[in-house]
Amino acid sequence: MTKAHSETGDPFLLTPGPLTTSASVKRAMVHDWGSRDATFVRFNREVLDKITEIAGGTGTHATVGMQGSGTFAVEAMLTSFVPRDGKVLLLVNGAYGKRAQKICEIAGRAVRVLETAEDTPPDLAVLGAALAADAGITHVFAVHCETTSGIANPIAEIARIVAASGRRLLVDSMSAFGALPIDAREVQYDALAASSNKCLEGVPGMGFVVCRKDALLRTKGNATTLVLDLLDQWQVMEKTGQWRFTPPIQVIVALHQAIHEYEAAGAREGRHARYAENCRVLIEGMRGMGFRTLLPDALQAPIIVTFRMPADPRFDFQRFYDGLKDRGYVIYPGKLTVAESFRIGCIGRLDASHMRGALGAIREMLTELGVADGAPAAA
Ligand SMILES: *Cc1c(COP(=O)(O)O)cnc(C)c1O
Repeated sequence: MTKAHSETGDPFLLTPGPLTTSASVKRAMVHDWGSRDATFVRFNREVLDKITEIAGGTGTHATVGMQGSGTFAVEAMLTSFVPRDGKVLLLVNGAYGKRAQKICEIAGRAVRVLETAEDTPPDLAVLGAALAADAGITHVFAVHCETTSGIANPIAEIARIVAASGRRLLVDSMSAFGALPIDAREVQYDALAASSNKCLEGVPGMGFVVCRKDALLRTKGNATTLVLDLLDQWQVMEKTGQWRFTPPIQVIVALHQAIHEYEAAGAREGRHARYAENCRVLIEGMRGMGFRTLLPDALQAPIIVTFRMPADPRFDFQRFYDGLKDRGYVIYPGKLTVAESFRIGCIGRLDASHMRGALGAIREMLTELGVADGAPAAA
């Protein structure tokens, strides 16, 4: 049995985060930096400005960093942008939409939930009708790629409907930003949340929110927590160049390196092309072994793929998972309610050769388990 590994000897993470990062991104972290160190302050500024540029928001938008995982940025976005007397319509088709609902409920923001099944995009006609019927709705929240299933939600169409109704859009683009198109010059939103360690391929520890500046300036008094107040975080950074509280220095310096590598490899188009090829190779190889994807190709984002659990009773998922791990590939259990499943990610510092390596390991594991065909039970 061969055990594949990264340049630093680690298994490859075919997961939705944390992800496999380049050796050079990891190496960027081996220093101590004071928060007032001039080089760090410059790197920090460059990271925030580059993210705004990647978003297509230079001049109109500002990126506000937030210590913590991606959810900290989503919670900061919702609680900073939705006023206490506001109301959010949430488009839910997976765990991340449900998490946003929970955030709003804890923060005491009124919600209206439009939920579809995990393999079904939101119904745009229903969205339009709901906005027309309830003048109390101030904001709409949507997830760009719902990582629960890997579905690409129609964010540009959602944005058009929200703008036409005079409401404001908040986007969780965590697993899509930097790879799937969402250009602020074309897609109107007030705020978009993402993080250091998904498609930008940094290490985990920093979320960020790309904010339309005029909308951000109108959020004064909305925040219900000190640490998640995006306006205060932004104003202190603008005035002093400093984070309000201890910055995740190594994470920021690693992200600086990751963004440098991102630009050198063709920026968004380059990243999208690599992930799309990973996804194509993966799906083709898996279908060749009988596995079936949850989603039709038209709804599948090249980020993470959900496969239905094989029907063969000899397919023991824990043994399958452990055997792949022993061969150097970490996959991810399913989180679906509609079907038994597991997931394989296409993002991180991986290319088609890694996907082929993973497929070889999967083939070995099917042989070891005595499973001739990965087909799920007929629906
Ligand atoms: C990863 C992810 C998040 C954030 O999750 P954390 O575990 O807090 O980093 C939020 N939304 C989506 C769609 C994600 O994929």
